[in-house]
Amino acid sequence: MTTPSWDWAYKEAGQAPWDIGRPQPAFARLADDGLLAGRVLDAGCGTGEHTLLAASAGADALGIDLSPLAIERAREKAAARGIKARFEVADALNLADLGLTHDTIIDSGLFHVFDNESRARYVRSLASVLCPGGTCYLMCFSDRQPGTVGPRRVSEDELRSAFGDGWTVLSVVADAFDLVPSAAGLFGTASAQAWRATIERG
Ligand code: SAH
Repeated sequence: MTTPSWDWAYKEAGQAPWDIGRPQPAFARLADDGLLAGRVLDAGCGTGEHTLLAASAGADALGIDLSPLAIERAREKAAARGIKARFEVADALNLADLGLTHDTIIDSGLFHVFDNESRARYVRSLASVLCPGGTCYLMCFSDRQPGTVGPRRVSEDELRSAFGDGWTVLSVVADAFDLVPSAAGLFGTASAQAWRATIERG
């Protein structure tokens, strides 16, 4: 297992560059369009903003993350906001262990953390819990983002080929991750270039 615990990122609020305390605008638009529906799984949910977004839109939402601290924060937010959503500590590489099937999967910033080997395993893991015809909405760091600060850059071709087998990549569009204000200094911009993909399981 190469993945660190990730708890470091959640020790203090606003420390992790991606933990902006609200949904990424790209996912807020998906919710506005009614696309975060049914049994929704938020893979690598962090402190749960997208799980809570889906739950607020009426979905049966579950967020999972490897970091116990992130899950604790997510549960606190759900309680404070009075939103019914479930959060569990789990490994996105072994999603079948949850014993659940989902209609929709959200991935905001998880795909790009994996090395090549884990990436293939992650895609198989997603397929094991998404119903046939279900949709995965995934946003990852893009090779259009200059510099080397932050996560590994992903090219559109890499993204498409990762989901080449048993999936239909419906679209890959240029989008952006909003960042916490302190990280904006590090990246030189208030947001980072991303690819947002809509991928259907065959
Ligand atoms: N989706 C959240 C967090 C993105 S950062 C957001 O948009 O704010 C990536 C998250 O993936 C981190 O919270 C990290 O703890 C989690 N993570 C990393 N490897 C994981 C794995 N194997 N299984 C589950 N979560 C993982």
